[in-house]
Amino acid sequence: MAVVLESQPAQAQQTQQTKPVYGGQKAAAATTKPHITDTPITWGNWYKHVNWLNVYLIIGIPMAGLYAATFTPLYTKTAIWAVAYYFATGLGITAGYHRLWAHTSYSARLPLQIFLAAVGGGAVEGSIRWWSRDHRAHHRYTDTDKDPYSVKKGFWYSHLGWMIMKQNPKRIGRTDISDLNENPVVVWQHKHYLYVVLFMGLVFPSIIAGLFWGDWLGGFIYAGILRIFFVQQATFCVNSLAHWLGDQPFDDRNSPRDHVITAFVTLGEGYHNFHHEFPSDYRNAIQWHQYDPTKWFIWTMKQIGMAYDLKTFRHNEIEKGRLQQKQKKIDQAASQLSWGAPLESLPVMSFEEYQEQAKNGKALIAVAGVVHDVTDFITSHPGGKAIIKSGIGKDATAMFNGGVYYHSNAAHNLLTNFRVAVIRGGCEVEIWKKNAHSLTEHVTKGLPAQSQLA
Ligand SMILES: [Zn+2]
Ligand SMILES: [Zn+2]
Repeated sequence: MAVVLESQPAQAQQTQQTKPVYGGQKAAAATTKPHITDTPITWGNWYKHVNWLNVYLIIGIPMAGLYAATFTPLYTKTAIWAVAYYFATGLGITAGYHRLWAHTSYSARLPLQIFLAAVGGGAVEGSIRWWSRDHRAHHRYTDTDKDPYSVKKGFWYSHLGWMIMKQNPKRIGRTDISDLNENPVVVWQHKHYLYVVLFMGLVFPSIIAGLFWGDWLGGFIYAGILRIFFVQQATFCVNSLAHWLGDQPFDDRNSPRDHVITAFVTLGEGYHNFHHEFPSDYRNAIQWHQYDPTKWFIWTMKQIGMAYDLKTFRHNEIEKGRLQQKQKKIDQAASQLSWGAPLESLPVMSFEEYQEQAKNGKALIAVAGVVHDVTDFITSHPGGKAIIKSGIGKDATAMFNGGVYYHSNAAHNLLTNFRVAVIRGGCEVEIWKKNAHSLTEHVTKGLPAQSQLA
């Protein structure tokens, strides 16, 4: 997999982490040797581009778990526990890492923070600090080279590739995580991440199954290893599937999309177009019937006093964004159709010139200040030849709009195809206003009443 990396000058990474456990992004040493990601992948060096620790954690261990599952019986209690712990650790990522720490879309009391930091650690996706730093860069630099998991580099890169291939930490966009550096739970979890991940990822699920129903090995294989695999793959889908499948009701300039399938896979993170547009909203799904268990969890925590200050965007702002996107789509569709020659491109003629040309055999009809050449249409006129001919050389605005027949919308659209000129002053009556003498003359000639009233 060719990873195109931008070579850029070393920038002061205010968010540089010192000892990453999962991302494998070692703090850049001040050295002149180019980072491995700045050298092209060849048959001779490809293995140096691979982050082997992550290959082992994300692919190797689950494979071993799958193999072990072939000779490890799965008991009902263990299966239920594995699914329950899957949801708990998944919520650690979605409600904790993502909505609480990366986006501060609500505030949590200490017990809830400790719970989320613990079960989030059990999902084995890196420390809160590392995860949130990358996620903030993902939002700030979506789809660019500074986006750590840009879907522009392919579906599998955004899903897994960004972790199993080495990344140059200098390339990832800068973000401010000073708030996280001041949070004791985040700092503690980052510092002791290895212990957190081993205990919450493998030891704890084994202890529960072992102490309560004696299934130590089942707890380890099913609620530990395989549950980690599923929760990882599910939450990785927020970076891949949510940027690949679905609609873009709020903004289509970037890749995030809304889809119910992604929502089901990711504990409600599937309304990702909304999320990228309103990232500090604690909800992903805003309709009551949409699947967003993470939102339900946060809301429930609020009811029991564990969460507070839940942020939501004003309904008016959300609907404004939705409407603007709809308008954009309508405008794009409209631009594919012919709407007749633009008025500003047409020649301007006086009403007298128009009358003159119509008298000299041209089938011209003026409607709403625009002259139309209906020569080729006379025989196709649904109302008959005689009626359309009666409008030639006149201001037929009123005739067209109900004076003789109240024409349909389709007729209005069709008429635009026959535009040939615009009348100076807009319509006949304007000429009259300009010239009172001429007005008297016209009235004595007995012109149609609607022309005078128009
Ligand atoms: Zn995203
Ligand atoms: Zn986000």
